[in-house]
Amino acid sequence: MAGVLRGTVIVGAGHGGTQAAVNLRENGYDRPVTLISADADFPYHKPPLSKSFMKTPDAPLQPLRGPSFFDDTAITTRLGTRVTGIDRAARRITLSTGETLDYEALVLATGTVARKLTVPGADLPGVHHLRTAEDARALRGALDGARRAVIVGGGFIGLEAAAMLAARGLEVTVVELAERLLGRAASAQVAAAIAADLEGQGVTLLTGTGVAALEAEAGRIAAVRLGDGRALPCDLVLAGIGAVPEVGLAEAAGLEIDNGIRVDARLATSDLAIFAIGDCCAFPHAASGRHLRLESVQNATDQARAVARTISGTETDFAAVPWFWSDIGETKLQIAGLAEGSDRSLRIAAPDTGALRAVYHLKGDRLLAVETLNSAGEHMLARRMLALGKTPDAALIEAGDIRAMKAFVTG
Ligand code: NAP
Repeated sequence: MAGVLRGTVIVGAGHGGTQAAVNLRENGYDRPVTLISADADFPYHKPPLSKSFMKTPDAPLQPLRGPSFFDDTAITTRLGTRVTGIDRAARRITLSTGETLDYEALVLATGTVARKLTVPGADLPGVHHLRTAEDARALRGALDGARRAVIVGGGFIGLEAAAMLAARGLEVTVVELAERLLGRAASAQVAAAIAADLEGQGVTLLTGTGVAALEAEAGRIAAVRLGDGRALPCDLVLAGIGAVPEVGLAEAAGLEIDNGIRVDARLATSDLAIFAIGDCCAFPHAASGRHLRLESVQNATDQARAVARTISGTETDFAAVPWFWSDIGETKLQIAGLAEGSDRSLRIAAPDTGALRAVYHLKGDRLLAVETLNSAGEHMLARRMLALGKTPDAALIEAGDIRAMKAFVTG
């Protein structure tokens, strides 16, 4: 069946894809907009899945928009539908239903999939991943009656979930291959502060430790066998070992792939009618001079805004200060900028408690990134400094007086 439809087709209804559809309409784009997602759930916020959604058995998903939003704005949604192919010459996609849709502009917002454990026993009942609402419902359903959880991976998913499961009364052990937590996401100082908090909540942290196998009893998970031979008895395993960009569709269509779907400054792929945004794309990052792929809600929504402007007729290069956040138990970690390439770090303690409040990362006399712990105002200020390219001198940073730094930025 050939159903002709032109305008913009967006593949993926996560934060990026949904935001792109919303922004097209906000920009006054009056061509057809179609949002297609293999995920059958109405578009929802992902961050709560590892946090508030786990708190009670009936916590609802938080929708990205109200129930009538897409009808009201004439955005056609095709949920629970997979795009199976792109015919670039015809500017036509094929759906899992066998239908075809024509496009003028195609936006790939296909995101990532959870990396799966490959050790023996990885498919046992009781072994979970956490990426989609469906994964979250499965994990939540397994919590009642579970006593001991092993979390494989000490990244954002693993640590947010560890704090949540410990708060729900489970005995939690985190197994991380690297020598420290949050190796990809945060500095060693911040990781150490978060590790101390988690240990204070009773979470056991095993770093520098790999998993050799998952072992069963009566057909379901019963223990995690570590690389050093130790066994951790458990009734639940959550693997949070990273995410893999979903590039299959783009690759099959012959688009350039390089750690994600490679795009130019306008977020166009090697086919100028096809754009890619969010976790699945590798974009040129002016400050580092190389292509980066970032996995964050903020990056996806900022790129969505930029691509929607371009498709609406205002050619827009993507340039935004990256930022990230993670709520790990009571700790709010916020990161502005990218610390990679820094040559010194200034550690700021909270004046009242002496606890780590922030780490400023600099290269020479240029600020690259600021990590803050429970210091939201300072995070906002850091984003402003980075956007304006303003770096306070080291003495001002080290004085730790946020008001004085604000005066420097606004002055
Ligand atoms: P992640 O942040 O990449 O962390 C995965 C961790 O698991 C890494 O520290 C990794 O170490 C470790 N690891 C990999 N293989 C392992 C193994 N076999 N045994 C033990 N440890 C292993 O990924 P994630 O926590 O799974 O999160 C998945 C995605 O969700 C990411 O895109 C993340 O950004 C996103 N997410 C974001 C937030 C947030 O922004 N607040 C919250 C939840 C999820 P190596 O680095 O040494 O490989």
